[in-house]
Amino acid sequence: MSGNESRLEAISRISKAAPFDIGMTAPLKEIWASDVFGLVQMEESLSKSAFKAMKKTVETGAALDPATADVVAAAMKDWAMTKGAKFFSHIFYPMTNATAEKHDGFIITNSDGGSITEFTGSLLIKGEPDGSSFPNGSLRMTNAARGYTAWDPTSPAYIMQTANGAVLTIPSVFMSWTGEALDKKIPLLRSNAAMNDAGQKVLSLMGEEKVARLNSSCGAEQEYFLVDERFANARPDLLLTGRTLFGAASPKGQQFDDHYFGAIPERVQVFMQDFEDKLYKLGIPAKTHHNEVAPGQFEIAPYYEAANVAADHQQLLMTVMKNTAKAHGFLCLLHEKPFAGVNGSGKHVNWSVGNSTQGNLLDPGKTPNENLNFLLFCGAVIRGVHKYGPLLRAVIASAANDHRLGANEAPPAILSVYLGDQLEKVFDDIKTGTLHAPTDGGEMDLGLSQILNFTRDPGDRNRTSPFAFTGNRFEFRAVGSSQSVSGPLVAMNTMLADSLNWIADKLKAELDGGAKTQVAVFSVLKELMELHGNAIFGGDGYSTEWHEMAVKERGLKNIPTTADALPAFKAPEVIELFSSTGVLTPAELESRFEVYSEQYVLALEVEAKLTVEMATTIIYPAAVTYLSKLGSVSAKLTPSPADAVTAAANAMMTAVGVLETAIAKHDFATIEENMKFLADEVRGLMDDVRAAADILETLVSDSDWPLPKYREMLFIK
Ligand code: ADP
Ligand code: MG
Repeated sequence: MSGNESRLEAISRISKAAPFDIGMTAPLKEIWASDVFGLVQMEESLSKSAFKAMKKTVETGAALDPATADVVAAAMKDWAMTKGAKFFSHIFYPMTNATAEKHDGFIITNSDGGSITEFTGSLLIKGEPDGSSFPNGSLRMTNAARGYTAWDPTSPAYIMQTANGAVLTIPSVFMSWTGEALDKKIPLLRSNAAMNDAGQKVLSLMGEEKVARLNSSCGAEQEYFLVDERFANARPDLLLTGRTLFGAASPKGQQFDDHYFGAIPERVQVFMQDFEDKLYKLGIPAKTHHNEVAPGQFEIAPYYEAANVAADHQQLLMTVMKNTAKAHGFLCLLHEKPFAGVNGSGKHVNWSVGNSTQGNLLDPGKTPNENLNFLLFCGAVIRGVHKYGPLLRAVIASAANDHRLGANEAPPAILSVYLGDQLEKVFDDIKTGTLHAPTDGGEMDLGLSQILNFTRDPGDRNRTSPFAFTGNRFEFRAVGSSQSVSGPLVAMNTMLADSLNWIADKLKAELDGGAKTQVAVFSVLKELMELHGNAIFGGDGYSTEWHEMAVKERGLKNIPTTADALPAFKAPEVIELFSSTGVLTPAELESRFEVYSEQYVLALEVEAKLTVEMATTIIYPAAVTYLSKLGSVSAKLTPSPADAVTAAANAMMTAVGVLETAIAKHDFATIEENMKFLADEVRGLMDDVRAAADILETLVSDSDWPLPKYREMLFIK
């Protein structure tokens, strides 16, 4: 079947397609967390003492003794088998953004050949996937390739249902046999512990007597595109790279803003309901959903949870979303920029830290003391963004996200922090000394919770900032839609830990010198602002003035590509940050650099090769077919359509030749050099091929064009 038939056929078949019938969805009460082995199920099935031990582990991360693990394993297996599970799996998160799992049966056979089931505490706790093919930087030599998965009891196990089976799924960490972190979960758990340690020091210096363990929270807003699978199947670029490598702009794009918060197309609504019911069964609190700015683009935001659980849930959400979309005849695109010239997709990571005794420390609170704690934690974030801006840029760096950052629809590639007018003024006044502790030593009520109420108004938010305070949390808006939230959360927790340690040292010195608490706080914050206030920016992050000012006057870095961003992992201050906080050893950090660099190179190589292949085997033949149909008629027409097509086709194939030569280059001394070459040369050469191909799309007759067009992929649902 020739390409154009499949495209035109797809259009006619989609218009006749009826929405997938999911019937009435079940009441929330019946399905909520019904597939999760959480505290409720444990309380029902465990002895009092086992439950108590387990609860303590879940809440504090305390180690679980082997005897309790056996009891929990038995109860978990019984519960899972009533749900139809015959297999179990340790699920883990390698350094790529992927989710990995290996399934094992509960079954063992006895001497009579009958089947019995077994699941012990040690099987629950430890798994041995043959993980030798996961990228691991240089952490595991292949002769010692065994990696271990270990149960993370702080994230509940659940049943993963598929059309013909159920698997007990156990959230796990993944490490080398020497205990090095090979995944994204271990650093997250460690970063949370480091943040807790540092936060405890500050709060105890602030005179807080009871301080429960501090935890970070995360609520991630996920943007995505849905494209009918019939179109997607005719686009090798969407299938292999997640984005369109070719495609002329549609005459109608997103300029009317008519899609944003418009009525959700019925077929998509049905998909969302099905998808959200699946999330509810898994205990994922899907909260809001709506259309996004671009046609065909949508968003889902679950309610926030403890960062570790939220990170697991994010990965699970992406998997369930892709699978459910498939069942509804859609391809779900999580790529950061599937369509050139159309808004891309991000994942806003809302992040706060708190505990059960002091509450959310990024909430200004109502009492003078709460105000001071808030200012210290908020100041710690400002310092972190300033000192470790390049790290924050590095943890969101990917070939795909490079299309978004700095493209005037998403935050710029300069890390600054937005506080809102009122809070910015408070910090400015602290810096200039206008705001200070009262000299009579009385308690000062800053009334922050009242003045900052305005900041909660969404109208007041700065959409152009990569890192914005939104009333009681920070929103890291530059994270890409396909990325794991772990990397950003690790960076934020760790920079916060470092800043809180710095603050604790300074505070202690002031207090030891006899200063009153309030005086000490303002003195530390004044110094902090003098050193790091440059990161605060409330203006238009898209403007060229900011791009100049940020670099020239503020000393901030504009880091446009992943090739420029990833070396931050090798910067001495970043190595020191991670080793001093115990989050990543220098070797573990180095391995992240290697894996992410490799991923970048692979992603761009696949795109470049596919660009050559699609231009040569799909687009060029379409141009030739059209030319042959025009035949001698063309010469009688002015202008001659054949001349224009011939010129564009020749230009495209010339560009293909140049790109092919570039792809063949492999003699790079370092991976940094390879990345720079791809970023600075190859990307531009791919654009050249595309530019000529996109002209062809506007010249070749519609019925001879093989690739589904933007207007079809974006507007036909
Ligand atoms: P908006 O859509 O206006 O940005 P939402 O109320 O939808 O705001 O919140 C966005 C995300 O932020 C949600 O996932 C929400 O649960 C989360 N969130 C709200 N409060 C906090 C908090 N204190 N810490 C972390 N995340 C939070
Ligand atoms: Mg938001």
